[in-house]
Amino acid sequence: MNDIKLALLGSQGAGKSAVLVRFLTRRFIGEYASNATRAVPQGSGARCIMEEPVDWADGFVVVYNISDRTSFIDAEDILRQIREARVDNCKGEVDVPVCLLGNKRDLCHARQVSEDEGRCLARGSRCHFQEVSAAESYQDIAGLFTQLIRQVMEHLKHR
Ligand code: GDP
Repeated sequence: MNDIKLALLGSQGAGKSAVLVRFLTRRFIGEYASNATRAVPQGSGARCIMEEPVDWADGFVVVYNISDRTSFIDAEDILRQIREARVDNCKGEVDVPVCLLGNKRDLCHARQVSEDEGRCLARGSRCHFQEVSAAESYQDIAGLFTQLIRQVMEHLKHR
């Protein structure tokens, strides 16, 4: 069995590192802030444009922050870029499993993106959707990665 390669994409500060660290270590590195996050205040226009179509990825996790609408718009853009880069021309569908992740669910008092909007975007992009909190919960994130890895393995079998 070859390694499975997953790409985590999303705007700066959405919580990609926190989600990954939570999955790998069960812990939340709450007090750190990436240089990028410190340098670019939330929602100030740090756009997330994929410079290349990440053609090495067997699966994608697209992360946004439910308390930052700009990150949701970025996620929408990233999903579109994945679709354009990875569409299977025969089937007319994206040829890799993708999951849309609304992170920072614990910040619901500052919510800028409703759960319905996330669900709706995922439905339109035919991908799985879940809201999580890297700060508060391991279970959701572990379940999500486990499911995505299963999907990727299944997908690779049928290639
Ligand atoms: P990245 O740039 O996408 O990798 O984002 P980081 O993982 O560096 O997270 C950016 C900031 O958001 C950091 O200060 C994290 O501690 C914080 N953060 C990440 N996930 C959560 C979360 O679920 N809830 C809260 N409240 N903060 C989070």
